[in-house]
Amino acid sequence: VSGLTKTRNNIVESIDNLVSSFTKIDDEFYEELEETLIMADLGVNTTLKIIENLKEKVKEQKVKDAKDVKKLLMNEIKELLSVEESEYEFENKKSVLLIIGVNGVGKTTTIGKLAAQFKAEKKKVILAAADTFRAAAIDQLTEWANRANVEIISQQENSDPGAVVFDAVAAAKARKADILICDTAGRLHNKKNLMEELRKINKIIEREYADAHKETLLVLDSTTGQNALQQAKQFKEIADITGIVLTKLDGTAKGGIAIAIQSELKVPVKYIGVGEGIDDLQKFDPKAFVDALFG
Ligand code: GDP
Repeated sequence: VSGLTKTRNNIVESIDNLVSSFTKIDDEFYEELEETLIMADLGVNTTLKIIENLKEKVKEQKVKDAKDVKKLLMNEIKELLSVEESEYEFENKKSVLLIIGVNGVGKTTTIGKLAAQFKAEKKKVILAAADTFRAAAIDQLTEWANRANVEIISQQENSDPGAVVFDAVAAAKARKADILICDTAGRLHNKKNLMEELRKINKIIEREYADAHKETLLVLDSTTGQNALQQAKQFKEIADITGIVLTKLDGTAKGGIAIAIQSELKVPVKYIGVGEGIDDLQKFDPKAFVDALFG
């Protein structure tokens, strides 16, 4: 996993300082560890859960040296994060991906990166510009479609997002597309409208494209730390999220948020964004991620 240097420096340094400054594992040690994990953006609830499990393991395995706690800690976090192979099912069947998230989090960029990845796997990809609220959103997505060399279905600004999805589904069927990726408006501040819009889009997909596998991926900006977690909770109330894409991990020391989001929301992080380029999207591999952060 590349692009995690900032988070890594943040976590590794504090954990290493901690374990080397304590000779025995006492309450004070756990308190400092708790503080360290919270500072690393793992969130209070997740941190408390990790510490509780850790205490048990330390007792069970009669660990005496603070230095040996690091390994246990890493294993504990890996367990929290596990993502099943089956969660990438959409890669192997005819699928439609609905991409949701507020403006600025990296939704358009993520769609472009996904399109390029699928295209490189020789899949037929179609994009739907169903964020019709902003003309810029349609233009930007069109640019990414060109860059990834995939087809895009769009209409004018302010047209009905449902109509765009309807057209896109028709195109996907006609061209026997493997993957249809739909952008959506990110107006979380207008929750009722957004919910209604997503409901309509979902209805069209269910009616017109019933045999396609459906995913709803929520894009979150990791640099916003705990705010990303709050956003995710709000989106969870209005959509059946099947996975998270966590962007901008390259520019932040708040990478620990991936751990908080997955353990609190029980929704798997499926991809991480580690740069602005078309190739800067990686499948989330919890083991590699934790090794990169703590190892
Ligand atoms: P949208 O409004 O959600 O569609 O956001 P955009 O896709 O337009 O992205 C907003 C900004 O974030 C752009 O400047 C992108 O280049 C940048 N961005 C997106 N993903 C990443 C990432 O993983 N790393 C970095 N460093 N920048 C990113």
